[in-house]
Amino acid sequence: MIKTLKTRIRIILTKLLGKDFSNPSLTRLVRDSQVISFDVFDTLIIRSGLKTPSDLFDLIHPDDSTFKSRRIEAERKAREQLSLEDIKLEEIYKELYEDLRERQEVQEAMALEISTELSVCRANPEALEFFNTVRKVGKRVVITSDMYLNRPTIENILTNCGYDLTGVNVYVSSEYGKTKRTSNLFREVLREEGMEGREGEVLHIGDNLIADYISPRKIGMKSFLYNR
Ligand SMILES: [Mg+2]
Repeated sequence: MIKTLKTRIRIILTKLLGKDFSNPSLTRLVRDSQVISFDVFDTLIIRSGLKTPSDLFDLIHPDDSTFKSRRIEAERKAREQLSLEDIKLEEIYKELYEDLRERQEVQEAMALEISTELSVCRANPEALEFFNTVRKVGKRVVITSDMYLNRPTIENILTNCGYDLTGVNVYVSSEYGKTKRTSNLFREVLREEGMEGREGEVLHIGDNLIADYISPRKIGMKSFLYNR
C-alpha cells in the first residue's frame, strides 16, 4: 500500500517536473555546461514492444513459460547478496543456473539474453537528434547508466541504434559497483572527467526522478528530468 502511494507520487512528480527535449530551459542548461551526461534506457533508447523491462524475459525463451519468473527471482536473489551497489548479468545467471556447472552453457544463455535485448532496442528519435546537436556544438558528452549489463554491451546497443560514441565515455553501474541512485557513479564521472570542484558545469539528462534528477543535484550537478 505504502509502496503504491510512493510510486504514485513519483509518477505525479515526474509528470510535473519532466520536460521533453524541445523545452527552452534545456537549451539554457546545455549552454551553461561543459559536460553533458545522458541516461540510456527510456531516454536515448526505447525497448520496442515492451510494456515493462521484465517483458523482455518472455522473448528470451518463448517456449518456456517459467523462464520469466525464474529470471526475476534470480535477479532478486543476486541483489540480496549484493556487496557493491549494483550487480552484473553474470551474477544473475549464476543464480539462474545454480546447478549448471558448464561455463559454456551459462555464457550461451547470457548471450541469448543480450541478443534479445539488442533486438528490441531502438533509438528514441528526439533523443538521437538532441544528442547529435549537443555533439555538434562541441560539448563533451558522456553516458551514465544504472544497469547490470556491461559497458561493451551498452556501447553495442547504442551504436546499433545509430549513436556515434566517438570520444564518448560510457559509465555503467555494474562495472563500478556504484550507482547513479546513490550519486556515487556521478562522483566517479566527475573524477574521471576531471570535473571535481566544477560540478555545476556538468548536466545529466534522464527519465528517472531519483536516479537522474535528484541524485545528481545532491552533489551539486545540474539535471534535467526527461518525460516523453
Ligand atoms: Mg532511464
